[in-house]
Amino acid sequence: MTEQSQAQPRVEIYTKDDCPYCEKAKDLFDSKDVEYEEYNVTDDEELFEEMVERADGRKTAPEVFIDDELIGGWDDTSALEETGELDAKLGLADESSDDDEIVEHRPLIIAGTGIAGLTAAIYAGRANNDPLVIEGDEPGGQLTLTTDVANYPGFPEGIGGPELVNNMKEQARKFGANLKNGVIESVDDSTDPFRVELKNGDVYTADAVIAASGASARTLGIPGEDELMGYGLSTCATCDGAFFRGEDMLVVGGGDAAMEEATFLTKFADTVYIAHRREEFRAEDHWIDRVHEKVEDGEIEIMKNTELTEVHGSQEEGVDYVTLVENDEGHPTDRLDDPETDEFEFDVGAVFLAIGHTPNTGYLEDTGVEMDADGYLETQGGEGGGQTETDVPGLFGAGDVVDYHYQQAVTAAGMGSKAALDADEYLDDLERAESAGEIEAATADD
Ligand code: NDP
Repeated sequence: MTEQSQAQPRVEIYTKDDCPYCEKAKDLFDSKDVEYEEYNVTDDEELFEEMVERADGRKTAPEVFIDDELIGGWDDTSALEETGELDAKLGLADESSDDDEIVEHRPLIIAGTGIAGLTAAIYAGRANNDPLVIEGDEPGGQLTLTTDVANYPGFPEGIGGPELVNNMKEQARKFGANLKNGVIESVDDSTDPFRVELKNGDVYTADAVIAASGASARTLGIPGEDELMGYGLSTCATCDGAFFRGEDMLVVGGGDAAMEEATFLTKFADTVYIAHRREEFRAEDHWIDRVHEKVEDGEIEIMKNTELTEVHGSQEEGVDYVTLVENDEGHPTDRLDDPETDEFEFDVGAVFLAIGHTPNTGYLEDTGVEMDADGYLETQGGEGGGQTETDVPGLFGAGDVVDYHYQQAVTAAGMGSKAALDADEYLDDLERAESAGEIEAATADD
């Protein structure tokens, strides 16, 4: 499909330890057989300063350069990958983007390499359904952002998120799944087989599709957010926390992710502040207890009924301070006219948003698949409550694109396996119907 058409340009990647997005960036170049120089800035002040200077002041890893041109972090790199521009910069000719040329037909395409997609790939590979797995914007999914997965059965000592994902990728490949970098632009369910178009223009066809494309980190849409994302504002504490050693840090949110990130950040922060918009936390007791231990140790302070309304700072200097609003009744941004609402400025050197996720289902918008108001897929069907069938026969959903409630690695894995089994049954039925049709046609010809 792609081939090297000229000498490879020089690729440099600044990385740090425990940085899932750094791993994603390296995986992307590895998958293209592109060589790169890696500079790990962990505990190397001089190298870190060099990275910040070359990256126009951004204090986030990874930072990717191609022939000295700043490409940026993972988001910027994967955005270029989606449009095919990354291949152009790397001198990789893309022969497959000719208008309507179909790159390949597969019995099954799986969207996403999170826990749901990879489990589906393992099952589908074992069922000889020759799955092609499209990695999507966030290869490895949300678990690559988790340092320690303590509740996945079978690992009494816990396991690192990236390690669990990498093990599953290896297992999927072992059973014959192919993993491909790329992001699906659209699925056309008006054709038979389905037509699956990637953002770089590549078109595949498939008899069945499993949507396991997960959900992406939400942002607040407040002033300063766009400008300072990557410059002290982040949605990934494990990626960026270490860059703000000694600073006061703010975590926004009241779910498990906010509690986990706040606990993690105490390793680096002077004090971690958690701002949550109401009185009760949504997080599990386990996480709340851990946070309260840190509160007792003086490492975390909790600000309830408080919301972030603006982040102040500059790309050169990073986050300087934030504006917060507080009202004892909760949801203060809904009560800005209330005289009881207090607005105040607060000094912090870094801000981490942990306010949940939005499902990645835009590529299914033009299909007949039902979605709820937030974009989660509506599924039903399956024997014994399988719940992976959408309204479109042959199109299945699994993991966080469907499940906004449980959102656990183990439930995503369970659903991925169900989707692969349902898809296998669908493909078997299709094959039987096709061969019955062929026999009928042959008999009619006689
Ligand atoms: P959740 O949806 O559980 O929590 C999001 C939090 O952000 C809520 O407290 C919510 O407030 C708050 N929030 C949402 N929107 C806004 C906004 N606009 N302004 C201010 N606050 C906002 O998401 P998580 O990412 O925390 O967790 C998702 C799933 O992943 C859960 O099932 C969780 O159990 C799991 N998880 C498990 C972990 C573990 O055990 N290791 C770690 C991380 C996640 P409100 O409560 O008022 O709605």
